[in-house]
Amino acid sequence: MTQTDKLEAVLGGVPDPLTDKPLMQSGRVSGLTLRDGKAGLVLMVDGLSGPVAESLKAKVTRALEAAEGVTDVRIIMTAERGPPSEKPAPSRADPHPTEAITLPNIKHIVAVASGKGGVGKSTVAANLAVALARQGLRVGLLDADIYGPSVPMLLGNSERAKLASGRIQPTEAHGIKAVSMGTMADPGRAVIWRGPMASSAMMQMLGQTDWGELDVLVLDLPPGTGDIQLTLAQKVPLSGAVIVSTPQDLALIDAKKAIAMFEKVNVPVLGMVENMSLYLCPKCGHEAHIFGHGGAADTARELEIAYLGGIPLDMTLREAGDAGVPSAARDDAISGIFATIAGALKDRLKGI
Ligand code: ADP
Repeated sequence: MTQTDKLEAVLGGVPDPLTDKPLMQSGRVSGLTLRDGKAGLVLMVDGLSGPVAESLKAKVTRALEAAEGVTDVRIIMTAERGPPSEKPAPSRADPHPTEAITLPNIKHIVAVASGKGGVGKSTVAANLAVALARQGLRVGLLDADIYGPSVPMLLGNSERAKLASGRIQPTEAHGIKAVSMGTMADPGRAVIWRGPMASSAMMQMLGQTDWGELDVLVLDLPPGTGDIQLTLAQKVPLSGAVIVSTPQDLALIDAKKAIAMFEKVNVPVLGMVENMSLYLCPKCGHEAHIFGHGGAADTARELEIAYLGGIPLDMTLREAGDAGVPSAARDDAISGIFATIAGALKDRLKGI
């Protein structure tokens, strides 16, 4: 009997909360490993309410801790669908408080946020990370955009996350280390996370990934200003946030809400990036301001925060993202723009 067979046998004594069958037959457990006394696994908590999922996690932890040769247990919770009849959390109160986290090997954690979806936040986060790495920094990217994890596609790397000694191993592509909520579940399947579970999964991914030494860790946050963003802003030692917006008034109203949220929890806003700022016709060179122009720069001025730069609406940028080679990894006009924005951001981060 191998060590992991022994652990599987131990988990046989834990019943599945929905079916009462032994947990190992429920398909909830994957990636079971044991190395140097550290047991690790991924626990699917589909269909379980937050408290039931937490209680299952506690039972699995206790069972493994009692097994011979196990000194430490690391469990990553994931879900592909939410609890069937559960209402969303009624308030911002987190019923499963997550401990604040310290990451001494990471000099700066920078959240890339937006007030609303579809403004190009993930595109900016991934390209900024690559552009910072091209300036000689050691960079990581955590795709915490659980509603639409797109980093695996943007970096052309959709391998499932691997565990070693119970810790997540980031994938490496285009000079950066990346981990995505998108690689914790089957690609192409929608993942629905409830607020507290999502915050807790994100904190685990942050703290249980082998990032090594990093100068900057870029966090691609989900859009908006809900529980997840608030938990992160309060419990992760952020150096600051970068806000992405289109120049449009409506997007800017939401961007202002995001800025207000970070300011309320004393996270400095490092600057604003305007995406889809203008459209240059590739045939005639005509400049069109499809979503307006200069709105983010004006808002930044009004709110007395830095304006880091604007990115045009550009077909090559979308195509590069779809092809898995971010524009910032190329040598063209768009990569130059990302280099300038990354340079402006770097200047605002102390000690690198
Ligand atoms: P968000 O993270 O805000 O939801 P994404 O980064 O996923 O947005 O971008 C949404 C879509 O818009 C993607 O298909 C992306 O390739 C495209 N996109 C983002 N920025 C630009 C841009 N400046 N020019 C062209 N397409 C863009």
